[in-house]
Amino acid sequence: MQATDSIIVINAGSSSIKFSMFSGPALGLTLRGKIENLYSGMARFIAQDAQGALVSEREWRDGPLDHEGGMRFLFDFAHTHLDGQQVVAVGHRIVHGGVAYSGPQRLDAAMLDALDKLVPLAPLHLPHNLAPVRSLLAMAPHVPQVACFDTAFHVGQPEQAQEFALPQRITDLGVRRYGFHGLSYEYIASVLPQMGTGLAGARVVAAHLGNGASMCAIDGGRSVASTMGFTAVDGLPMGTRCGALDPGVVLYLMQELGMDVAAVQKLMYQESGLLGVSGISSDMRTLEQSCDPRARKAIDLMIYRIGRELGSLAAALGGLDTLVFSGGIGENSAALRAAVCRDAAWLGVQLDDAANAAAVGGVGVDGVDGCARISATGSKVAVWVVPANEELMIARHALELVVKEAA
Ligand code: ADP
Repeated sequence: MQATDSIIVINAGSSSIKFSMFSGPALGLTLRGKIENLYSGMARFIAQDAQGALVSEREWRDGPLDHEGGMRFLFDFAHTHLDGQQVVAVGHRIVHGGVAYSGPQRLDAAMLDALDKLVPLAPLHLPHNLAPVRSLLAMAPHVPQVACFDTAFHVGQPEQAQEFALPQRITDLGVRRYGFHGLSYEYIASVLPQMGTGLAGARVVAAHLGNGASMCAIDGGRSVASTMGFTAVDGLPMGTRCGALDPGVVLYLMQELGMDVAAVQKLMYQESGLLGVSGISSDMRTLEQSCDPRARKAIDLMIYRIGRELGSLAAALGGLDTLVFSGGIGENSAALRAAVCRDAAWLGVQLDDAANAAAVGGVGVDGVDGCARISATGSKVAVWVVPANEELMIARHALELVVKEAA
């Protein structure tokens, strides 16, 4: 990787395409941005430099923009803003890699066909992840594209952590726990060793708490259990997703309330979680600022469920040495961290209140990659805030793969 080489990372969702550009051997972030509100008639593009200064922006009011139109725009934008930089690879965040892919894969027509077969496992996300890959393959077939999977980090979990107690014939169809947010956890596992002796081999529970939220047990850098399962709706309550639900509730909703599949799906994915419980908002900031008791109830339920999952994951690890908070809520809500740590005192967690209050917005007291240790001296369990950086993880994977292919 030369100083003039860049890796572009694409994270495409149902209504947005986020991108980041990393340059030079150290993979420094040089540019990031997004097109949001795809398909709405109000699409909006913004690009910022690494310091957050505005580089470019644009709005589309002449009809809805789709993924392909968005990628064409980004392709032209990249061309005019590369400034002599050469794109050596484009890395994509791909939500599902099934059981087959435990690491990044080169994307070509054959791999796209293989990934199309996994769409039934993630019908809400996978098609949107793959659309930009197709567009780029057509526009720039010579640029290497690399798939990085949210499931890959969890593929090596013990069988018991992956299987439901269902008949083998159903398990054999791929109905098993996959786990998600793997790129975030892999990044966390990669930075822990930099932050102090002993962390590399530690029994870690990491909580990625954003609009989507999950927790992962990491033993010696490897995932051994996670709260998300067959889909990303399992585990913790999230912004609008319900998290773990007695499957009997789904039967009741359908049999007794006459809800069809689409209505149940909408309820579980878009109307539940913080939004559903509070009836106010899916946004933690809004809830924390609200005096409405329903907002408090939603936050308290999330804290309670984090505590329950923490106990379960600590059991999977046989103990707990390190607890990590990440994601928009984990990085910014000192109040939620304090409540979770208070409830986890029985595990030996003791917070340093001042360090916790100071570790907000990625400004860590210890300053390593914005990471901050927030546990009290003498706490049996070390507690850290680690800003999520899935994009950098993807850039590293993409670089590694093209270097390996070139060797
Ligand atoms: P996504 O999963 O979409 O990437 P993020 O990781 O950006 O989401 O997290 C979004 C969540 O983080 C929202 O609930 C938001 O309210 C919360 N959040 C962001 N900043 C703060 C803050 N200062 N205090 C509390 N919550 C915050």
